[in-house]
Amino acid sequence: VPGRRPLMVGNWKMNLNHLEAIALTQKLAFSLNEKQLSAVETVVLPPFTDIRSVQTLVAGDKLLIGYGAQDLSPYDSGAYTGDISGVMLAKLGCSYVLVGHSERREHHGEDDAVVNAKLRAAIKHEIAPILCVGEGLHVRKADGHVAHCTEQLGAALKGVTAEQAVSLVVAYEPVWAIGTGETATPEDAQEVITALRVRLAELYSPEVAEQIRILYGGSVKSKNIAGIMAQPDIDGALVGGASLDVEEFVLICRYR
Ligand code: PEP
Repeated sequence: VPGRRPLMVGNWKMNLNHLEAIALTQKLAFSLNEKQLSAVETVVLPPFTDIRSVQTLVAGDKLLIGYGAQDLSPYDSGAYTGDISGVMLAKLGCSYVLVGHSERREHHGEDDAVVNAKLRAAIKHEIAPILCVGEGLHVRKADGHVAHCTEQLGAALKGVTAEQAVSLVVAYEPVWAIGTGETATPEDAQEVITALRVRLAELYSPEVAEQIRILYGGSVKSKNIAGIMAQPDIDGALVGGASLDVEEFVLICRYR
């Protein structure tokens, strides 16, 4: 869509030590040329322990493969053992941070209030949040997927102004399609993503909604990316497993 630059995000999850992260980032940087990187914004989300290594490889390169984190604390500092704050991530040059990934919602009990607090912490530190929403299989089977996702969106954005919302990226990730090899059809993804954009227009304005990029995620591979990107409201992909394979991820970034 004119005005919204396509965005491909690789979520490495809990994979790769810092040496492996360096190797993958170098291969990625060698494989994507300037034209490709300017046409399609390419971002990696390594584990916290790898971010510094990735930063030293790409920072200062004007071609910039972007990078960010998979989570952040809602707090800035203090007695929160094991947590990492937006202050720390901003200092490391992170441009993006995932908020509300289904694996955090499921394994760490993150509810809408926590997701909202984390999203606001990201905005406060000028790190663009990539807000994940998506329904489980039982919700999809009961035809509740559109309502479920638009409600998750509204709850996450409580107290967020239109001015703050323009930095946001939303990712529609049906939980049943993450890491399962099952992909939503491009039409299924478009249905929910259109509804999310309508909800953003209601919450803010049609102009703001038109600026916000909405990605699809869930078993994206080089062989299904073209069909997904052909949908008018889908602005890119959040890629898990396939982002650990440089050749695959490069093909995804070069989808056109
Ligand atoms: C994800 O981690 O956000 C994801 C979509 O994973 P996968 O591509 O492996 O399904």
